[in-house]
Amino acid sequence: MARYTGPVCKLCRREEAKLYLKGEKCYTDKCPFERRSYPPGQHGKQAEFRRRRSSDYTMQLRSKQQTRRIYGVLERQFRRYVQMAQASKGLTGEILIITLERRLDNVVYRLGLADSRAAARQLVQHGHFTVNGRMTDIPSFLVEVEDVIGVRPESRRSQFFRQRRDLLGQREVPAWLSLDAEALSGRVMALPTRQEIDIPVDEQMIVEFYSR
Ligand code: SF4
Repeated sequence: MARYTGPVCKLCRREEAKLYLKGEKCYTDKCPFERRSYPPGQHGKQAEFRRRRSSDYTMQLRSKQQTRRIYGVLERQFRRYVQMAQASKGLTGEILIITLERRLDNVVYRLGLADSRAAARQLVQHGHFTVNGRMTDIPSFLVEVEDVIGVRPESRRSQFFRQRRDLLGQREVPAWLSLDAEALSGRVMALPTRQEIDIPVDEQMIVEFYSR
């Protein structure tokens, strides 16, 4: 499974927005974006100036790239999510964001069982999680209502998850999920609505990007 392996803070600077890709560091003054919020590279500051005259295409592209980077999805897979959303009934943009939110790595992150989506993805790939009691190591697995996401019994005893249990509850868990901190597990109470997803992108721009 391919994934982006380059420097992630550069992605925030490239998008000129905090994408919260590094977990705790994003909330401290060590966040590089706090000091340099212009795009990386020699002409970064000039690019900042140029972007004030953004074209429709640039805004659509940036919305797409931001969303892709927040969820850690490469272009080919992202395009498949868009096609799935286009084939479904309802608002394509909303369905797209809701589908991304249902990814197992995102749910693990939302429950607070990992600091970032990237860390959650790695934990899932290493086989630390179960869905309805069955080990699931596919980060793109899409959860359904009533699914129970848990830490495997063998992994629960590890130092990482013992420490994690003490940290649970520090980050707010969205209303569509319920967390059982003691059991290190969570349940999907309902599918999220777009209003419940705090991703600051205009999904309509993404739809327009792929409709060109
Ligand atoms: Fe982005 Fe987090 Fe890096 Fe700050 S620390 S630039 S928010 S990934």
